[in-house]
Amino acid sequence: PKVDDAQCTSNKVRVVARIRPSLPYEIHNHVPTACFSFTRDSPEETTLHVKDLSSRRVLGSQLGSDGSLSDTCREGTYKLDSCYNGDDEISVLFDNEVKHFLPKLFEGQNATVFAYGATGSGKTYTMQGSDGHPGLMTLAMKNILEMAAQKPNYRVEVAYYQIYNERILDLLDESNADQIKVLEDTDGKTYLRGLSQVHVETMEKFNELLVDGCLRRRVGQTGLNIVSSRSHAALVVTIVNHDNAFCHGKLNLIDLAGNEDNKKTGNEGNRLVESARINQSLFVLSNVITALNSNNPRVPYRDSKLTRILQDSLGGTSHTIMIACLNRRSYQEANQTLTIAARSR
Ligand code: ADP
Ligand code: MG
Repeated sequence: PKVDDAQCTSNKVRVVARIRPSLPYEIHNHVPTACFSFTRDSPEETTLHVKDLSSRRVLGSQLGSDGSLSDTCREGTYKLDSCYNGDDEISVLFDNEVKHFLPKLFEGQNATVFAYGATGSGKTYTMQGSDGHPGLMTLAMKNILEMAAQKPNYRVEVAYYQIYNERILDLLDESNADQIKVLEDTDGKTYLRGLSQVHVETMEKFNELLVDGCLRRRVGQTGLNIVSSRSHAALVVTIVNHDNAFCHGKLNLIDLAGNEDNKKTGNEGNRLVESARINQSLFVLSNVITALNSNNPRVPYRDSKLTRILQDSLGGTSHTIMIACLNRRSYQEANQTLTIAARSR
């Protein structure tokens, strides 16, 4: 009999970009240096082109007699699965990329959505949202609660934690000062001991948890931004089936720490240690994704806390999507984010 390919090959990571609009002060200060354009070649492939506008200014004196700059302008072309402008409603991204796999959670499958990119690129805006603008966490939860309301034998639980300097902190329970431990159960599945799980039935309850959790996220100061996120924050929605203890579906919605480079942020001392750890764990994540995509049997899950925790939610039958968040401020940053993003497909 013919073997069903979909059953034995693991799902690939879907990689989409989201380019946030320039903010009023950026337009005012002429900060933008990166210029994006993209074409949708097919539903599965988009070609994204980025140009460095600052090199025009620097290299302006080398203008040829015909005014051509094509040789001196830095630029890059990347193949991704799809791309969204920041002006596109988040609901469009949700409907196209996330909504379709949420029913699978009720069948015991797992899924992970990452927001990846430099600080200030729109990761938190995309995942958590901001005043009056819901993020994917809110849209996904709303959809899940609507489905759960039709299924009396299921319960929805939420956990929210952050990984800061390879330590796990509970964002829903401040009294939970003890470090949460990553442990393995008898079948080698990892779980987080000590993490609060809150039963959620309404959006009011969820919004309360999200607001409280966001306030507890630890932020630090770097030379680039007044406040920047130095931790990974993960919201985990678990669908518990009362009739089958082995059939729990999990959705991880992860706002990753910024991937900017140290030299530029002027990081020193503690900040540098912190930054090295962040970049190390992002590097491991990218290695894990690359190994999964190439069906490499050695996947380095154990090399970071984040990937160890997500071991059962990446690869296999899990649905994984990476949202590469971009802004026009820095060509260098966009290039760095897109290099990893394109390598993750
Ligand atoms: P990050 O979490 O990657 O550091 P933020 O999500 O905090 O970045 O976004 C940086 C700034 O840009 C914030 O002021 C945010 O409100 C704004 N922003 C981000 N994405 C968008 C968007 N799609 N539309 C409008 N403003 C956005
Ligand atoms: Mg953020």
